[in-house]
Amino acid sequence: RLDSLFEKNSSLRERFEQNRDRFNLRLQQRKRISQREENAGITYTIPVVFHIVLSDPSVVTDEQIQAQLDKLNNVFSGINADSSSIPSWFKPLFAKSKIRFCLAQRTPDGAPSTGITRTVSSSNSFTYDDKVKYANSGGNNSWNTNDYYNVWICRLSNDLLGYATFPEDGDVDAQGVVIDYRSLPGGGYANYNTGKTLCHETGHYFNLYHIWGDDNGACTGTDYVDDTPNQANSSTGCSSGIKTDRCTTGGNGIMYQNYMDYSYDACLLMFTTEQVERMESALLTYRSSLLSSQACTPVTLYNND
Ligand code: ZN
Ligand code: CA
Repeated sequence: RLDSLFEKNSSLRERFEQNRDRFNLRLQQRKRISQREENAGITYTIPVVFHIVLSDPSVVTDEQIQAQLDKLNNVFSGINADSSSIPSWFKPLFAKSKIRFCLAQRTPDGAPSTGITRTVSSSNSFTYDDKVKYANSGGNNSWNTNDYYNVWICRLSNDLLGYATFPEDGDVDAQGVVIDYRSLPGGGYANYNTGKTLCHETGHYFNLYHIWGDDNGACTGTDYVDDTPNQANSSTGCSSGIKTDRCTTGGNGIMYQNYMDYSYDACLLMFTTEQVERMESALLTYRSSLLSSQACTPVTLYNND
């Protein structure tokens, strides 16, 4: 997605790359304070609003949204039960982040909210073009993206599971992620219906790249993370044991268990230490306004009499 954006806008690419270099510098500082914070039990909680945009938005229940939020917290806390399946050789790299998510309790105007919006859409499906993010193109407008992590849930065409914005990659109002409603826990997408699509997209939202470096097998691409093995291409299905490829030809092989790969949900098990540091650094560098948001504080209602 970034590439198509940059083709249209070369000055955006330049700015993006400068930002990336600055960010990588800051990341080095981040690593030093991260452990101290973990010891102190510090967490960073982010308000989320889910926008359900479907011809019949009631097919996605509040319970499903809660299950999705729970999955997100479970994965980012690194307390996922299936982490027991991480092979011994990658276990030392398995990391718990300090990022947590809460359902918004108020609208941008200060009215009480469940953190879930439902929009009856005339569009049967959406794609990368962001139409789902705007009411005038069949979607629903974002809530102030400085105060809310916006997650749009819709039907996506062409087997697309979801897509995300990277920090500072364009339109402020479009910041957030889009996922197919069938990827939600209990949804209709076999092998991709335990809510891990949102975990992957949230990784992008916090500046993580695909683990294979998006270079079509060249081995020269990078995910800007040092503790993930170089990987040629995305994985599919579920692998087991050590799996090598043309970019990592020996040792422990590639990390097809990583959330930033494309394995089935059942086989996505971990973020690494440096991925977590990168995400936390992205949050503090680019998205820190989310941390001072009052969106998860319930509205106090007063009687008028
Ligand atoms: Zn992705
Ligand atoms: Ca890497």
